[in-house]
Amino acid sequence: MRVLSYALMTISDAFPVLVNRLSRVAHALQFSHGLNPAQWEALRYLEKANRYSASPSAMADYLGATKGTVSQTLIALESKGLVRRDRCPNDRRAIVLALTDAGREILTQDPLCQIYAATEKVPKAEREQLAEVMKSILDDLCVRNNSSQFGVCGDCCHLDDGDCAGSGTCGVTGDPLEASDLKRICIDFSPCSDDEVSLSK
Ligand code: SF4
Repeated sequence: MRVLSYALMTISDAFPVLVNRLSRVAHALQFSHGLNPAQWEALRYLEKANRYSASPSAMADYLGATKGTVSQTLIALESKGLVRRDRCPNDRRAIVLALTDAGREILTQDPLCQIYAATEKVPKAEREQLAEVMKSILDDLCVRNNSSQFGVCGDCCHLDDGDCAGSGTCGVTGDPLEASDLKRICIDFSPCSDDEVSLSK
């Protein structure tokens, strides 16, 4: 792999080039364990999505993919025994997606862990700062491109009577939320304010 001299670039040139290069490296890493990058992304999404977001259409929204592409990805993952489709108990026409045990197991070997491993020589405080900057860039791009801003309950203006450490109620559905729900990403998320977001993507 050729390494460009980023020191010779302006910061406005270097950022897009570095993000693009990292994205290509991350893409290439994910042809592993018999899966492709879209299939790995779908598995990761289902591991994080809450009960309102475990649908093919929410997944398409989060991944910025068409429903047709997501459908093909899900067919492949189902045939490998990594994902299952259930009927929603409250609406028999709706589909709820879930990881199987095999799906959860293969995620323990996620090839993107190599990216985290590559950051381990960077001090923790700088890594956290870098993650905040990357999250901020992603949020900004979502807003500019009218993409849904998925996030977690603790940062959502619809969370009633709760905080990110305990439980609460969803102001959209009226459903009670357990502590484990509060850490999951949601398609109905709406940020409390532009600067109150968490590392959820
Ligand atoms: S509080 Fe917000 S993020 Fe949580 S379930 Fe309700 S809409 Fe989704």
